[in-house]
Amino acid sequence: MTDEARLAIHQVTFLRHWSFRESVEGLARHGVRKTAVWRPKLQEIGVAEGARVLRDHGMEVTGLSVGGLVTSPDARDWQSAVDDTRKVIEEAAMVGADHVVMLSGGLVDGSKDVQGARDRALEGIAQVLPDARQAGVKLGIEPLHPMLCEKRAVLCTMGQANDWCDFLGDDQTVGIVVDTYAVWWDPSLQAEIKRAGPRICALHVNDWLSDTRDLRLDRGMMGDGVIDIPSIRSAVEGAGYRGPCEVEIFSERDWWQRDPDEVIRIIKDRFRTWV
Ligand code: ZN
Repeated sequence: MTDEARLAIHQVTFLRHWSFRESVEGLARHGVRKTAVWRPKLQEIGVAEGARVLRDHGMEVTGLSVGGLVTSPDARDWQSAVDDTRKVIEEAAMVGADHVVMLSGGLVDGSKDVQGARDRALEGIAQVLPDARQAGVKLGIEPLHPMLCEKRAVLCTMGQANDWCDFLGDDQTVGIVVDTYAVWWDPSLQAEIKRAGPRICALHVNDWLSDTRDLRLDRGMMGDGVIDIPSIRSAVEGAGYRGPCEVEIFSERDWWQRDPDEVIRIIKDRFRTWV
């Protein structure tokens, strides 16, 4: 069982029904004071106003999603993704986020060069590392499930994330985001969580539905799928993590269609039993 004070809910969970402001007000109404920010929503309200709304409601901001996506083989596109990530870091500092959620990016335009994409992603993160250090914002690199390797993230495992952290050599600034949806299947998970130790900067929770219809946009509510979430939470706590447990549900056909107040009530209930 997890202490409700550690509950954070990513505002993307209410993507279709609530604006930035409505999501912050809604969470506060339900006594949830930790959230993660979805950049397109922040851009709708504007960064300065968004920061003010968060502050006024006493919100602790975990992550700002997303930076990175720096795999393009085209030098100009790659550079513009790096520059954009610098902006995300600035925005994260403005809203008081602990970290930028960094996705590596997938393969671009039918490329078959997965190793090249990995090299460019790692180089892109290395490029923005000094900016993050200076801004006092962490870069939370998040491996995604390998089924998303082509579309979204050539960074696919905790082991690879640890290797990247070894390479980058700045554990103060680079952390690892552990998302149950991305890592639950991995036979090396326990060992790699132990290896990550204090690198772990976030825990995202949600479930893998056994009849999943979409690899990205059909995440399940905790308890509805096959992931042993408490065992992953115990492992990250065993590695020293004591931060928020963040519910993050991308669900086009189910949870995004429901009344967000109802979604929060269900999250709080499931959080007690299934996290
Ligand atoms: Zn996540």
